Amino acid sequence: MPTLAHKIRLDPTPDQIRFFKQAAGTARFVWNWALAEWNRQYEAGQKPQGSALKKPFNAIKYQQFPWLHNVHRDAHAQPFADLTDAWHRFFAGQNDRPVFKKKRKTSDSFYVANDKCQIAERRVKLPKIGWVRLRESLRFPGTILGARVVREADQWFFAGQVSVPDSIYYRTRTGNGLEGVDVGIKTVATLSTGDKIAGPNAPRRALRRLKIGQRAITRKMQAAKVRIGVAPQDPLPKGTRLPRSRNGDKATNHVARTHLRVANLRRDFLHKTSTDLCRKNQAIGIETLSVRGMMANHRLARSVADQGFWQFFTMLKYQAERYGTQLVPADHWFPSSKLCSTPGCGYLKKDLTLKDREWTCPSCGTWHDRDVNAAQNLARLATETALPVATQPARDVPVRSKGRTDGKVTPVRHEATPAGSRLAASGQEEVEAHDCAPIL
Ligand SMILES: [Zn+2]
Repeated sequence: MPTLAHKIRLDPTPDQIRFFKQAAGTARFVWNWALAEWNRQYEAGQKPQGSALKKPFNAIKYQQFPWLHNVHRDAHAQPFADLTDAWHRFFAGQNDRPVFKKKRKTSDSFYVANDKCQIAERRVKLPKIGWVRLRESLRFPGTILGARVVREADQWFFAGQVSVPDSIYYRTRTGNGLEGVDVGIKTVATLSTGDKIAGPNAPRRALRRLKIGQRAITRKMQAAKVRIGVAPQDPLPKGTRLPRSRNGDKATNHVARTHLRVANLRRDFLHKTSTDLCRKNQAIGIETLSVRGMMANHRLARSVADQGFWQFFTMLKYQAERYGTQLVPADHWFPSSKLCSTPGCGYLKKDLTLKDREWTCPSCGTWHDRDVNAAQNLARLATETALPVATQPARDVPVRSKGRTDGKVTPVRHEATPAGSRLAASGQEEVEAHDCAPIL
C-alpha cells in the first residue's frame, strides 16, 4: 500500500516540551555514540554494522547512562537504524558522509514506533508522556507506520507516515492537457500556454525581517562579549562560550521562526503549483540544468537555485504519481530555448545567449518570448512521449489514474523536425546556470 506523510503541529505543555527536548537530545547522543563507535571500528579495519553496534550499547546503556530510563527506548534505538541508512546512502553516492550532531546546529527530532503511538481526533498518545494535543486531526485514514516528533524553530510537529488505501492515494485528474514547463529565476514557471507563474511575494517582506532579526542577534552577541570582557569586534578566544541570555534566545527564536515562515510559504506555493499542473495534465514536459543528473544524485542539487528546483521537481514527481500524470524530463542537451517552436519551422538559433529574453526567428519570422518558446518545445516533447499512453478526456468519463489504457489524445500539432536529426547536430545548449530559479 502506498504511504503518505502528514506533519501536524503539536500543542505541547511545558512539561511535554521538556520531555521532547530530552528525547531529541537522547537521540542525538546515541547517534553520536554509534557514529564514534562506527568510525573506530572502521579505522581498525572492521566492517561495522548498525545492528551489531546496538548490542554493546544495550549492554552498557543503563549502567553508564542511567538517564536513558527517562526516555522511551524507540528514541534511543532508532539512531542505529538511521545511521545504517545514512551510511548506505553515503556509499550509494546520495549523501555526504554522516557527521556528529551538534546541539542547536542540527534539528531536534526523535522516533516513535507505530505500535507506540495512537491518534484520536485532535490528540496523539506518545510513550512516557501520554496525550499531546494536535492542531489538526490526521488527514488520511490508514495505519501509521512510524512517526517522528520534530522541532522547527520553537515549534514541535508530529510527522507520521501513513499507509493509505489506493482509493485515497490515487486521485482523479480534471483534465488531460499537455503542458511544457520552463523553470526560471524571475518567473518560477513559464507554461507553454504563455502563463507565467511568479513566486509568492511575501518572502521579500520576510527577508527584510530576517535582516533586521539577524542584526538583533549580532547586537545581543556583542553585548554578551562585553559582559565576559571581550571587545565586541574581537573574535571569541578559543574554548570560551558566550553566556546565554533570555533576550539573545528570543532574538534567535525570532529569526528561526522567520526562516520557517519563508520555507513554509515557498513549500505551500510549490505544493499548489505542482498539484495544479498534475491535476490538469496527462503529460508535462520539464527541463532544467540536469534533471537526469539530479534524479540520479541529489548531491548535485547544491546551490540554492538547484535546491529550489529540486524541491519543485520532487513534488511534481510525487503528484504525477498520484494523478497518473506522465512527467517527461528533457535532458539538458535538449535545446529548448534555441529551437523555434512554430509548427513546421523548428529553426535552431545557435547564437542565442542567456541575455536574450526574446528573439525573432529568421526562418519563419515569429517573435518568441524566450521562456514561453522553451515551454512550448517542452510541451511538444511531452506530446511525442505521451502519445502511446494517451487517455480520454477526463470530463466525460472520470478516469482513475491507475489502470487506464484506452482513449485517444489530441496532440499539440507540431511538424517540426523530430528530435534527433536536427538536434543531434546542434550540440549542447548553453548551461543556463543563472536561469534556474531560487524558487521563493
Ligand atoms: Zn521559426
